Amino acid sequence: MDYLPIFLRLANSNAVIVGGGAVAARKAELLLRCGARVTLVAPTLDRPAAELIASAGSRITYLAREFAAEQLAEATLVMAATDSPQVNASVAAAAARQHLPVNVADDPERSTFILPAIVDRSPVVVAVGTHARAPVLARRLREQLEALLPARLGALARFAGARRRAVHEALRPGERRPFWERVFAGPVSAQVLGGDERAAETTFARELAAFRGTDTRPGEVYLIGAGPGDPDLLTLRALQLLQQADVILYDRLVSRGVLDRARREAERVFVGKHEADRGAQQRIHELLASYAGRGLKVARLKGGDPFIFGRGGEEIEFLEQRGIAFTVVPGITAGLAAAAAAAIPLTQRERSQSVTLAAGHAASDDGLDWHAFARARHTVVFYMAVSHMDQIVERLLAAGAPADRPAAVIERATLPGERVLRGRLTDIAALARAEHITAPALLVVGEVAAARAQSGAAQAARDALRGVA
Ligand code: SAH
Repeated sequence: MDYLPIFLRLANSNAVIVGGGAVAARKAELLLRCGARVTLVAPTLDRPAAELIASAGSRITYLAREFAAEQLAEATLVMAATDSPQVNASVAAAAARQHLPVNVADDPERSTFILPAIVDRSPVVVAVGTHARAPVLARRLREQLEALLPARLGALARFAGARRRAVHEALRPGERRPFWERVFAGPVSAQVLGGDERAAETTFARELAAFRGTDTRPGEVYLIGAGPGDPDLLTLRALQLLQQADVILYDRLVSRGVLDRARREAERVFVGKHEADRGAQQRIHELLASYAGRGLKVARLKGGDPFIFGRGGEEIEFLEQRGIAFTVVPGITAGLAAAAAAAIPLTQRERSQSVTLAAGHAASDDGLDWHAFARARHTVVFYMAVSHMDQIVERLLAAGAPADRPAAVIERATLPGERVLRGRLTDIAALARAEHITAPALLVVGEVAAARAQSGAAQAARDALRGVA
């Protein structure tokens, strides 16, 4: 290690930047963010620097002249970012004479410090350096960390910071660390990161009160939407929680690719079930309770979004009754993924002003408003549609939908073997049969489902005319 990574407090100290270009402006901005007072030295300014100076007010002092060593008299830190190697060298030499830390842009030889790539979740800050050997690698690492670290990490640190004193007073020295370990690994942390600080506060108070003399580890459940199948469509939060889970309860619709992204050591339990099996849902509830009761972090992973035909509502009701902490992470529901796959905009100014997500199997009872579905400029996405296609079509026609209303079937959206069939209300069911469409598949009905030309506005215009006829 040739450099010591440190976090330098700059509030109200004076930093001198020599240079008037975009690089100097970027550095000035960074220093301002840390609360420094900046003196910028440059005979002329490029636009970004000029704009920054105009917006920063008195926090930047601008000296419109050439660099001179006396400008460093008050400085705590110096940066040279001109495009003249000579000027940069003389800044570095002047700083060295005054024993000031100096950074020269793109010149680690003349610098006594270098700037890391930064992930800023203040007060959590991660700095990545490569001793100036591979700045692009540092930036790549930063991007990976950006994706990995929860957006509300800073909020979590603030939440903990605001409670340090209370914990200090409530717990003996040997207890504090294990308590904080529990906070950061448990439901309090998941709740803060999920944006629910109020719930976190309650959980925190309960855990702090319960901590002394007890040894029960509270488990928790993450109800996670796994998206339509392609693991790249997982949310970042889903990934983060899948990396923390001790055990994963997953459904039939959760793809192998998604499971592969979960923590390697996590136990994986398949709880896929047939729609009709009521006992199975009860068994899932009991499994959730039993794993969480053992203090484990349980990821309950469901295809698509947990609250769209996913029985997520029943599961959280159960968890609430049992007092088990849970977090819900939304997922991309199959209807949205299928629409994207088939390039069907579910709403579109002239063709669709509303959209319904409907359960296809409900075609056999009377719970749905078929007249509303049959209206012009309305899109319906039927889930669980394969074995009810004839009935759905029949009901739509009976409710007044035109026979040539466009329809599309999307099978295995975002998964290998994805297929899109397009037709009209009159022929879509026969088409699906002829093509041996099987679950999982969705039926989209509405003017927006009309085939669109791969390219060419003329074809699109023709489609539009036909589609809204
Ligand atoms: N909670 C899930 C839906 C569960 S219901 C979600 O939000 O997506 C199951 C139905 O979802 C299937 O019958 C099928 O209609 C639809 N479905 C799920 N994944 C799909 C996929 N990859 N492609 C097409 N349809 C899918």
